[in-house]
Amino acid sequence: MSEFERLRSDRARIRRSFTNIGKKIDAVLTVGRELTDGDLNELTSLFQLLTVRNDELVGKDSDYLEMLELDEAKEKELNAEQDKKCYCFHSGACKIFEESPDPILIDGGFSTELSRHINERIDGHPLWTARFLITDKEACISAHRGFIKAGAKIIRTNSYQASADGFIKHMGVPSAEAIKPIVDSVAFCRKAMELENNSDVIIGGSIGPIGALRGDGSEYSGKYCNDLTPQEYMCLHRHRVDALVNSGVKLLCFETIPCSSEALALVELLKQYPNVRAWVSFSCRNDHQISNGEIFAKVAAQCWKEGKDQLVAVGVNCMDPYWVSTLFKELKNLDSTVPFVAYPNSGERYDTVIKEWVQGENKKVIADYVQEWLEMGIKYVGGCCRNSSNEIKDIGAVINKWKEVNRS
Ligand SMILES: [Zn+2]
Repeated sequence: MSEFERLRSDRARIRRSFTNIGKKIDAVLTVGRELTDGDLNELTSLFQLLTVRNDELVGKDSDYLEMLELDEAKEKELNAEQDKKCYCFHSGACKIFEESPDPILIDGGFSTELSRHINERIDGHPLWTARFLITDKEACISAHRGFIKAGAKIIRTNSYQASADGFIKHMGVPSAEAIKPIVDSVAFCRKAMELENNSDVIIGGSIGPIGALRGDGSEYSGKYCNDLTPQEYMCLHRHRVDALVNSGVKLLCFETIPCSSEALALVELLKQYPNVRAWVSFSCRNDHQISNGEIFAKVAAQCWKEGKDQLVAVGVNCMDPYWVSTLFKELKNLDSTVPFVAYPNSGERYDTVIKEWVQGENKKVIADYVQEWLEMGIKYVGGCCRNSSNEIKDIGAVINKWKEVNRS
């Protein structure tokens, strides 16, 4: 092995080991695992190796620079490959953010669609639909395919309730593999697109609130919102955002957020991923307030102000569709420039005590409201819980009819 090759292979080894050590440190931060003596020994020997190599490299700058250049060129090549593979650049679908004058159809409630493909109860388990990332890959792919067939232009990953901690605690996944199901959630969307032969779809990386990870329904009350600092929010969410973005996701969906403190922390975290776009969507308790009682319009306008370079919209999801028009109207009155996203549930309410959906006052389906929202200028519209691909198809039909009338 030549000196040059030896340097290269050392460098590759150092890089690999640092990545592994980085993952271990991440595991310490996110799931509380401690660094073992082995980890620390590895770290020490790497630093020693680095110091020795550094000394050897003194006076051999040209070799070293050449090596760096080679690696940078290789890296560029790899990145270009990655971009080509990315659904977004490959299909040009990302352009719809900037170019489409029309409202864009989002998918519906993943658990509702998934329940058509499995024979067990989804609600009531701490990981909710995320456990099927491990136990029933085929059903996950079929559920995404259902929404693509229905015409959805944005399909969201099944990662709303997914976290490394959750997979370790509730599924017995070893900590070294605890990120994999989140990575798989993107792969399943891609597979569905491939099987439907439709590359003109954007994958939205779903990031549910901390309340969803707790599995106690607190995303609908926001009762944890005063207990966490922005840094704590970012720390808890970071590994999920990392996993989705590293898998090629270019749009993140921060959804069912119950309070401004979590939304603003997520907007701050987003800034660390400058090539990624996102929407922030709140859960609401009525047609005026988000789940923790703050005023929707005020909070939404604040998020937009803080994050408009990367946000594609701010809005609401998983609440009664009957409330959408008023929420939208109040936001427009405060700041008419904010693009609006809405994907309500069926109007039923999730009872956190009996862990069942119970009928609310709303008796209409989402499609009945969509015309009004379109006239108000909604940008992204779809469904949340209790809305399957059937309802998404119905919403799509209203959008198409509206486009015919307004664009002819
Ligand atoms: Zn929902």
